[in-house]
Amino acid sequence: MSAETPPAPFGFFSRLRDGLRKTRDGLREKLEGFFGGAALDEGILEELEEALLASDLGPATTAAILEPARAAFRRQGATNAEAMRALLADRVAALLSVGRPPGPPPPVPPHVTLFLGVNGSGKTTTIAKLAKRYRDAGERVLLAAGDTFRAAAIEQLQIWGQRIGADVIAHRSGADPAAVVFDACKAATARGVQRLLIDTAGRLHTRQNLMEELKKIHRIIAREVPGAPHETFLVLDATIGLNAVAQAREFHQAVGVSGLIIAKLDGTAKGGAVVAIAQTLQLPVRYVGVGEGPDDLQPFDPREFATALFS
Ligand code: GDP
Repeated sequence: MSAETPPAPFGFFSRLRDGLRKTRDGLREKLEGFFGGAALDEGILEELEEALLASDLGPATTAAILEPARAAFRRQGATNAEAMRALLADRVAALLSVGRPPGPPPPVPPHVTLFLGVNGSGKTTTIAKLAKRYRDAGERVLLAAGDTFRAAAIEQLQIWGQRIGADVIAHRSGADPAAVVFDACKAATARGVQRLLIDTAGRLHTRQNLMEELKKIHRIIAREVPGAPHETFLVLDATIGLNAVAQAREFHQAVGVSGLIIAKLDGTAKGGAVVAIAQTLQLPVRYVGVGEGPDDLQPFDPREFATALFS
């Protein structure tokens, strides 16, 4: 039996709940009556709306979440808080259930994941956390230091690589990222690694330059590894809340994002933005970051998230 027994479902859920603490506390503060089981009235529905907006759900998503709750209230009058909470959680889970599940592993390795995100979003840490998950599952992992515009980014990835036991393909700072990515694709194929994780720049002189650079890298990967990239993950900083929507749209339009990773969920009361982002862009959330440690990354489950939000 493997020494790495997966965490018990309860522990898993409680860590997600912990990660969402600030957002949940924010909701609780405004919804004491509701959470305390007070009889529902129009006033509480209004408070509910305010609380959801304050968690950065945005007006459209808030309206979508409240619609069945309002309808039930109108139909049945004072529905109890417990039933209302279940209605809200169901709705949030439904709104988060967008996109397709991840595809099967490619018939021939490597499985290639391209990581996008602005500087400071948590991209490097997220790559390290995911690389560790794959390593713990017994896979061979190669990392590519495609952000050659920042010397620190290369070093940071190299340090993580050493810590988690993954080789890193890197050139000196200032080198052409396309060359790093090309070398990494060749090396991954030659070494028969199962996973290649590619870091990219998070900032160039202009946003347009950055998008052009990312498109170029995407093309090289597609040319060098058939069917790749198998995933294109955009890492978003949860603490920027709804501002992440515009950011995500820009990356998605340029390169085509297959899934979102929401980092720093533990550091914000704006966790509601996760729902708004997924819903507005119809992109699935794949993982959430709930801390700075290498194990602080959780696969995303819409139902668990919705339950944790209102529990
Ligand atoms: P990058 O510039 O996008 O590569 O960002 P980094 O990976 O260097 O992360 C920026 C900062 O955010 C670092 O201090 C990380 O430790 C921190 N960070 C990343 N993910 C998380 C997370 O899920 N929770 C918390 N609390 N901090 C995080």
